[in-house]
Amino acid sequence: MAKRKVKVRVATRTVTRIVRKTPKIARCAICGRPLHGIPRNVRKLSKSEKRVSRKYGGYLCSKCARELIKKEIYEKFG
Ligand SMILES: [Zn+2]
Repeated sequence: MAKRKVKVRVATRTVTRIVRKTPKIARCAICGRPLHGIPRNVRKLSKSEKRVSRKYGGYLCSKCARELIKKEIYEKFG
């Protein structure tokens, strides 16, 4: 979350104020679909509230994670 400086004109002078950008919805890294269970603003949240407690949770959607985990297992055990 980058901060953005915005100049606001007040009655007497121009003041620079720091405005936070609204975070975008978390999306899957492979298919780009929005992820479920991940809030927009994850500041001040505990680790378990920030992402799904699964491998690739909060990074890939359930479908892509499932496929990737399957692929990993197939490669490992032939
Ligand atoms: Zn996906």
